[in-house]
Amino acid sequence: MIRSPKFAALLASAVLPLSACATTTNNYNYSDGLSAAGEPDAQTPAKAKNVILFIGDGMGISTITAARIYAGQKRGQTGEEYVLPFEAFENVALVKTYNTNAQVPDSAGTATAMHSGKKTRIGVLGIGPDAVRGDCASALANPLPLLGEEVKAKGLALGIVSTARLTHATPASVYARSADRNWEADAAIPEDQQGLGCDDIASQLISAEWDVALGGGLAAFFGSEFGGRRADESANLPANWAARTGGSFVRDAAELAAAPMDKPVLGIFSPSHMTYMAQREETSAEPTLTDMTAQAMGRLQSDPDGYYLMVESGRIDHGHHAGRAGWALEETVEFARAIQYAIDNTDPEETLILVTADHSHVFTIAGYPRRGNDILGLVVPPAEGGEEVAEAATAEDGKPYTTLGYGNGPGSIANMAERPMPETGVNAQQQSAIPTGSETHAGEDVALYAQGPGAGEARGVMEQNKVYDIIRKAFGWE
Ligand SMILES: [Zn+2]
Repeated sequence: MIRSPKFAALLASAVLPLSACATTTNNYNYSDGLSAAGEPDAQTPAKAKNVILFIGDGMGISTITAARIYAGQKRGQTGEEYVLPFEAFENVALVKTYNTNAQVPDSAGTATAMHSGKKTRIGVLGIGPDAVRGDCASALANPLPLLGEEVKAKGLALGIVSTARLTHATPASVYARSADRNWEADAAIPEDQQGLGCDDIASQLISAEWDVALGGGLAAFFGSEFGGRRADESANLPANWAARTGGSFVRDAAELAAAPMDKPVLGIFSPSHMTYMAQREETSAEPTLTDMTAQAMGRLQSDPDGYYLMVESGRIDHGHHAGRAGWALEETVEFARAIQYAIDNTDPEETLILVTADHSHVFTIAGYPRRGNDILGLVVPPAEGGEEVAEAATAEDGKPYTTLGYGNGPGSIANMAERPMPETGVNAQQQSAIPTGSETHAGEDVALYAQGPGAGEARGVMEQNKVYDIIRKAFGWE
């Protein structure tokens, strides 16, 4: 259970402008707990009390570069020189993301690697690679460990935060095993797989042990009486959960802020995924990812045994799938803000902060735009000397093109008689080559950034399931 110490100050600082947190001590490097001479370093704790894993869903390296420029430009800088908070971490690795049966992975297989310690097939959660997707019996025969279960079994507090549905692949990987990532509600399990002992993902969240779960996805938890999509029309899983745990079920940012600090909290803030930052009204009742991170940390930190918190920016991925880079970058900027909050409100001697992505996207930064060129605009090359002429470069069709683009996606120009003028700005859909209804993931490595006890393990080129080992080793669970 969680108690309530100095959370008031912690939460109060959540509403400070980001500029108030500009300088931080985020260069703490742990190495391996040994000094250069190989002597145990008394000042270097061997163990992390807390671990926070930040997952930018689909946040490949091109997304990080573009978001860095975008974040800098939003501050009136040219942008390229800007440093996102986690880019100041001294420990960085490259991570190989493939699934056991897929060269280019999905979030279920990749998140399972990080939370169960084993690579597995595309589309499955918390079960091994011998299980067949969509087959309940083989899922039951091939369970993997779940980090969320181990965290609670060892007496630590557990938090799960996402801007996607709480039943979506990445958050579900913390607490659920499923033959198919799409079995989010009971009604989504095919008839021939029902009654065989496989629970839907929403039911598993409700029966699992955790302290804070915040995100989207109301529909999977309710029957049609409440606007949901569960088979039983009167189903109300959050009410069942609250009755069992004594916890608070909250529906908006104000209720979340007002919920008791010493009880578990289930916050579900939207019918499906939460609203893109690019589309939120000033008056939105939904908490931001930073709000949710602050609320989760404020509760979890009161557990004297420490905590594990997974924070996912789920909609970077969705912005890219829609071929709208501006949406993905707005999500990434908010993700960076949540990470800055965590940096500013934890002690690097006791909290390991990991920042990574589950996979990349076919997202490119192209042309030869001049320094400081609008990252969401047309490519305007550097002046050739003399007076600066701000004129967009043209392609062989005589038309300009944008710096940001996609290898495939809904913005494809492949089947058009004539390429249209490109859209620009935060709501633009970038042009792409191959026509696909949804832009796809990409298969190159992603980055892992680390700060705190055990951060020195993040180095070199590693398999994605090693992230699980890094977390467990930092907790001293080897
Ligand atoms: Zn995706």
